[in-house]
Amino acid sequence: MDGMTLFLILIVPTIILGIYAQHKVGSTYNKWARVASRGRITGREAADAVMRKAGVTGVSIVETRGHLTDHYDPINKRLVLSSENYRGSSLAALGVAAHEAGHAIQHKVGYHALKFRMALVPVTNIASQLLPFVLIGGFLFQIFGLIKLGVLVYLVLTIFQLVTLPVEFDASRRAKQELVAIGILERDEMTGVNQTLNAAALTYVAAFVSSLAHLIYLFLLTRR
Ligand SMILES: [Zn+2]
Repeated sequence: MDGMTLFLILIVPTIILGIYAQHKVGSTYNKWARVASRGRITGREAADAVMRKAGVTGVSIVETRGHLTDHYDPINKRLVLSSENYRGSSLAALGVAAHEAGHAIQHKVGYHALKFRMALVPVTNIASQLLPFVLIGGFLFQIFGLIKLGVLVYLVLTIFQLVTLPVEFDASRRAKQELVAIGILERDEMTGVNQTLNAAALTYVAAFVSSLAHLIYLFLLTRR
């Protein structure tokens, strides 16, 4: 099998999956961002309530710019929410805010996958920085050694993406559970939260599948 066939079989489907996942998360978020929760509590208040119930202390909740830039920063113990989720009270905003609070809970309870993921961050950063050299040098300039290095780079990235999956699924599970348990949302409102968080989870699955496909592709190129 030549390189082009391998590329068509392995890489092209993952590019399509990635585009689909990005489209899906965008459209699902937009759909549920238009539906207000009955309780009218903001994402900030929801994240605060979820963390408080779990006994998480010392985590600040801050607002940031951008669209879907929400994340939990374990180094600085900061829960960062985009303006629309920080101030908004839509089902999408509450879902995302509670999901990030779920990461803060993971951090507090010492959830193993999160600890492992955090430990992988430095080596993953190095791998990400090497990636452009590997791709340009390996494919454009046909430097075989760089394709071999690419296998190592994608191995690191694939392990990182794999460990990210349980971390993300678990944060969403905690979010869904707490939103109902605390009484922030009623059961019939959970459809919006579930769909938003499931669409977000798909982007992480797509990222893992893409890394894995690149790993196999580069590995097979070095074997030929
Ligand atoms: Zn997350």
